[in-house]
Amino acid sequence: MIRNIPALFGELVFNESVMKERLPEETFKAMKKAMGDGKRLDSALADVVAKAMRDWAVEKGATHYTHWFQPMTGITAEKHDSFITPDKNGGVIMEFSGKELVRGEPDASSLPSGGLRATFEARGYTAWDPTSFAFIKDDTLCIPTAFCSYGGEALDKKTPLLRSMEAINKQTMRILRLFGNTSVTSVKTTVGPEQEYFLIDRALYEKRMDLRFTGRTLFGAKPPKGQELDDHYFGTIPTRVVAFMKELDRELWRLGVLAKTRHNETAPAQHELAPIFSTTNIATDHNQLTMEIMKRVAARHGLVCLLHEKPFEGVNGSGKHNNWSLTTSDGVNLLEPGDTPHENAQFLLFLCAVIKAVDEYQDMLRLSVATAGNDHRLGSHEAPPAIISMFLGDELTALLDSIERDKAYDAREKVQMKVGVHVLPRFPKDTTDRNRTSPFAFTGNKFEFRMPGSSLSVAGPNIVINTAVADVLARFATRLEGASDFETELHDLIKETIKNHKRIIFNGNGYDDAWIKEATEVRGLSNLPSTPEALKCYIDPKNIELFGRHGVFSETEICSRYEILLGNYSKVIHIEALTMLDMVNKDILPAVSAYTKKLTDALNAKKASPVKLDTSYEEETVSVLCGTLGGIFSAEKALEVALDGVKSASDRQAKAEYYRDKVIPAMKELRKVVDSAETVTDRSAWPYPSYSQLLYGIE
Ligand code: ADP
Ligand code: MG
Repeated sequence: MIRNIPALFGELVFNESVMKERLPEETFKAMKKAMGDGKRLDSALADVVAKAMRDWAVEKGATHYTHWFQPMTGITAEKHDSFITPDKNGGVIMEFSGKELVRGEPDASSLPSGGLRATFEARGYTAWDPTSFAFIKDDTLCIPTAFCSYGGEALDKKTPLLRSMEAINKQTMRILRLFGNTSVTSVKTTVGPEQEYFLIDRALYEKRMDLRFTGRTLFGAKPPKGQELDDHYFGTIPTRVVAFMKELDRELWRLGVLAKTRHNETAPAQHELAPIFSTTNIATDHNQLTMEIMKRVAARHGLVCLLHEKPFEGVNGSGKHNNWSLTTSDGVNLLEPGDTPHENAQFLLFLCAVIKAVDEYQDMLRLSVATAGNDHRLGSHEAPPAIISMFLGDELTALLDSIERDKAYDAREKVQMKVGVHVLPRFPKDTTDRNRTSPFAFTGNKFEFRMPGSSLSVAGPNIVINTAVADVLARFATRLEGASDFETELHDLIKETIKNHKRIIFNGNGYDDAWIKEATEVRGLSNLPSTPEALKCYIDPKNIELFGRHGVFSETEICSRYEILLGNYSKVIHIEALTMLDMVNKDILPAVSAYTKKLTDALNAKKASPVKLDTSYEEETVSVLCGTLGGIFSAEKALEVALDGVKSASDRQAKAEYYRDKVIPAMKELRKVVDSAETVTDRSAWPYPSYSQLLYGIE
């Protein structure tokens, strides 16, 4: 049934129009203010809002409420409480107070805290984030909240994200005032996260222990056909997938998520959803919701949605492109080149701030996307390398070059390019970026950070981008505020920034091996191929100072995050290794052994025949199988030994490095022999659905 989409959109959201309709005018005004600046409402007003929320939610069939938050697990957390309260007559009424709206105390002591709660308080508390709308999911009113310890330390991803948005707001406002802008009241960062995912058949998924336990296939021989024909990207979407996508869009629209684009991606069974961008914290909440709803809707269609960065070897993995920009309270995109010299000077200053920030905090950007899963993608010729560089396009690069050298931009003009005096040439959008190999690309009016993995919360990368850019803007503002001649100082500042940071600009092919060499050896860019070495940068004094300066993370908070992420890396690999051993010992070795016996029996029967029969197939295959079986057995033993050796690691960092250097190679070795066994074993004897079935199973 086709319903009126504008009426359906946001029907499960306690949004501004619902508030306007249901709140007294004064409360609505206060609420709007709270949404604008994130400040909390006083308790009397909170009570009024809570009652309106409850009435609205109960009318929509809600029975419970929950403080919905984003702990360090990378997913969301919720504990439901029903609205019921006993009345005097032995019955119940539905109650919800301002106190319950504003603050919650989930007994969340089992969520990761990186040691923070051991030193402060066992429990954390949740605090309402009025800048993101409450919504109904599963008949439960979900209230977006931040999660902190009693000492005030952030235990989640939302708190530092909000702090980083505040930091960049503050510094951007200083710059705008310098350009004479007095009308803007605040600046917010905007994000549009493009989400890639795989869809596979649920019945096949159930048969694969590796997919169920780790989200990716740990074994699987290559199918005869992969993505080499490029026939999946933007191809006709299979009927079952279209049915899934339709329902997904509807569910997301009802939750106020601006789902916009859907299409097939490069790998077989891979797809993408892109929303229209929104304010960063809302985009983050919505992306978390999108991932959750994708999984649920898939289940209703007999499908499984895989969000892992590398579910299948040999075809592309999944990423999440983080489109980022800065928008003023009057709706101006600060990364949009303007029409006047004045607007252009301002654009160039913001552009340079991002260039400098990316160059100075390359390590932090790399770190913000570092997970065991994403390590499979980065640098594997399917996603950007682990080295950060920026794509600006030839035109913009030529323009920056002419500013740096005081040269004319257009040879015909013979006039020097001077910031604040000249009108920039217009950059037609479609010439800006079709280079998909760049980790950080300027795409006409925004930057696209292409390194995040598909399952990652976008909070992490945006905390880093916001804080790093805020830091540079702060330095720019201080210098410009003290200038005697603003125009000249501005020009010098831009010129100097280009000169000092142009090493980070690279418009060529990021997948090329020659680039890795040039980047590291000639340009001195940082190359952090794996998660353990990237995570170490967290505790680099330069980074601790950065976050401290802007009140985004205290040193304790950083140390706790470093601990959590490092521990997580080791745990993920540990689980993968144990899963492999279990699969090999209980399914694969017995299956190959049984199949070898079957063939040996056939061989013996032929040999016993009075007539001489050709036994070449059986003989050769049995011999290959015996060899393979031995190979699997010894690789399995080697992985066991490698896992056992983890005990020798002295601390968490050493442990993570041990997993990377000893356990992962042993896992790869084991996979190699098992996959080769699969290619010589009877299809019906192999214990798991094959890559062909998984990747091409949906019509
Ligand atoms: P593609 O990268 O596939 O070519 P687009 O460039 O059209 O697609 O847009 C990709 C994403 O960028 C979309 O999610 C879109 O909403 C987002 N986007 C567009 N403008 C902005 C902006 N000013 N800030 C943040 N994200 C934006
Ligand atoms: Mg894109």
